[in-house]
Amino acid sequence: MTESPPVDVTCKCGNVVQIEKERTWCTKCGHVVYVDPKQQRRHKLNIWYLSVMFIGTVFFLVYVYLELIIRYTFIGD
Ligand SMILES: [Zn+2]
Repeated sequence: MTESPPVDVTCKCGNVVQIEKERTWCTKCGHVVYVDPKQQRRHKLNIWYLSVMFIGTVFFLVYVYLELIIRYTFIGD
């Protein structure tokens, strides 16, 4: 890993934040501020992707659960 010098980045709220690594939190509004705006977009995409994966998993589990209930109901008869 290479150490990069601190960079001044202006947050969305207008506050200038000094970033020593690749990201930090704005001291004024608390938002995550990135040195590279592309990374901010990737961060958002990551959150979106994780949400979709999570919802997909929940739906799959509900489907399997219902499938089992239906199967047990038929066996019970
Ligand atoms: Zn801010």
